[in-house]
Amino acid sequence: MTFEREREQMITDIESGVAFTRAMTGRNHLDPRVMEAMRRVPREDFVPADIRASAFRDGALPVGHGQTISQPYIVALMTDLLELTDAGIVLEIGTGTGYQAAILSQLARQVYSIERIPELAQTAQQRLSELGYGNVETRCSDGYLGWPEKAPFDGIIVTAAAPEVPPALLAQLKAGGRMVIPIGLPYSHQELMLVTRGPQGKTDTRKILGVAFVPMVEGT
Ligand code: SAH
Repeated sequence: MTFEREREQMITDIESGVAFTRAMTGRNHLDPRVMEAMRRVPREDFVPADIRASAFRDGALPVGHGQTISQPYIVALMTDLLELTDAGIVLEIGTGTGYQAAILSQLARQVYSIERIPELAQTAQQRLSELGYGNVETRCSDGYLGWPEKAPFDGIIVTAAAPEVPPALLAQLKAGGRMVIPIGLPYSHQELMLVTRGPQGKTDTRKILGVAFVPMVEGT
């Protein structure tokens, strides 16, 4: 199966999602580079084998250990909000399958990604290496602490919901950098937030959209 039709349908679904939410996100279109990355990265290779046929469904999918891979539109929107450049260094919290990390790898110089569940971290790292995403480095640790040795970051993306912006992550965001993070309690109302840090270091936080993410769990 080549998934060509499914991939094109996914692009159409993302475009519909963008149109549907444009009043909230302020975005009429996503960056063509983001759309190109969504076309190029083989989503079907990141989901468990038994749900491969549903890889392009317009929704989140279970990936084991009670975790999910986000709906393609959410992956694309969060990536777009980071406004990465080719020289950018980005940190992801919640590697999961490695799919979001692979998308980011197309738009930044280096991606660092942290996952707290050892089996997921190991599978994702192996998958990313096998598929040739050489500019992604993962590690198994508590994302609440960030990755201080590699900081500061141009972009930080959190793909699990936290009750508030973790202070260590905020401290690791470069001046001029952007962080995208779902904020809210587990299985209740959550808001995707965009945190921007101005050139003088002052931060500004803006609500983007209501979302549903698995919880960010403290500790390993
Ligand atoms: N971005 C992933 C999907 C993320 S699902 C993808 O593209 O497939 C959310 C992930 O966050 C889960 O794998 C979960 O184990 C992880 N997670 C939750 N709390 C965490 C923490 N404190 N540190 C690191 N990872 C965490």
